[in-house]
Amino acid sequence: MRIRIDRARCVGNARCAAVAEHLYPLDDDGYIAIDGFEVPPGEELMARRGAKACPERIIFVEDDD
Ligand code: SF4
Repeated sequence: MRIRIDRARCVGNARCAAVAEHLYPLDDDGYIAIDGFEVPPGEELMARRGAKACPERIIFVEDDD
């Protein structure tokens, strides 16, 4: 499972990091600092919750086939 983030459209409200700070790091200005990551085993639920928390809907869950 992978997370992809349309980083250019981040508005910096930090909702993703509020849910899972260790998965969704922010930069010094409070915007998402990464454009995606491979979800570590056992972190799937938190990754999904963080994605759902984004009001801009720019965090996408890519499930393995
Ligand atoms: S919740 Fe969405 S808009 Fe807010 S910081 Fe995270 S990625 Fe950016």
